[in-house]
Amino acid sequence: MLTTALGMSSWNSATDAADRLVMPPVDGRRAFQYLESICAIGPRISGTQGMQSQQELIEKHFTALGAKVQYQEFDAAHPKSGEPVRMKNMIISWHPESQERVLLACHYDTRPFPDRELLPINRTKPFLGANDGGSGVALMMELGHHIPSIRPKFGIDFVIFDGEELVFDRDDPYFLGSEHFARTYRDNPPTHRYVGGVLVDMIADRDLNIFYERNSLKFAPEITREVWDIAKQLGIREFVPRRKHEVRDDHLPLNEIAGIPTCDIIDFDYPYWHKRNDLPAACSADSLRKTGAVVLVWLATHGQPS
Ligand SMILES: [Zn+2]
Repeated sequence: MLTTALGMSSWNSATDAADRLVMPPVDGRRAFQYLESICAIGPRISGTQGMQSQQELIEKHFTALGAKVQYQEFDAAHPKSGEPVRMKNMIISWHPESQERVLLACHYDTRPFPDRELLPINRTKPFLGANDGGSGVALMMELGHHIPSIRPKFGIDFVIFDGEELVFDRDDPYFLGSEHFARTYRDNPPTHRYVGGVLVDMIADRDLNIFYERNSLKFAPEITREVWDIAKQLGIREFVPRRKHEVRDDHLPLNEIAGIPTCDIIDFDYPYWHKRNDLPAACSADSLRKTGAVVLVWLATHGQPS
């Protein structure tokens, strides 16, 4: 019943006989275990040993699943010392031969310090970034188990940005990795073309609430509405189709520099944002499962005739 002309089977035909979306079997518990193993590394600040350990973990994971893993490297000046910091975006490609592609993005560096702590003494303590930095990677690691079995219209790249927040002071630059990626795409166009993208950030909050993000509606209104519509059809009410925050995030360079319409899926009502308690205990397997399901259906169905 669930086989289509494209030869897809099971849930990934995206609709059942009654034309309803089928919930994909995203494994929230496995995603949460990935979140825990990422956090077990410790802080993953750009240019540090923790970041390198994370890169090794990610590369091994996706290579074993059959994806093509590449690094896009560049140097950025450390905002404190001015010394070069080696930055590495990771690009994990599925069906790399496809010339028309969509991207799923997140950042994987963690902020150097929990600088939103109220007491100054606490602002010098380590920051683990379970939700802010860890959750997007964990979601991708789980989705990596499902991508090989879908037959999307477009090739898929998971793009993991470095240097989203190598930020010590308010005026330090954000989005180093996504800006580099976007400028490279604009100035040295690859043979492939991105038709659109989705960014995930802080999507594992135990108390998940994901509102329309205003810049996403401005730059990528169709994709934004598609994503929230998928959530509605899957019965995932944590995606609330109402405008709330306007967030500056890695989707801005993609939209403004690269011209890739990209929406940001972000829960910006996270109580431990840039605080020490951004730990696995503040996150949940079910939040990862729900966001993962929405994103996976979008990747499988974007551009498919409905
Ligand atoms: Zn952050």
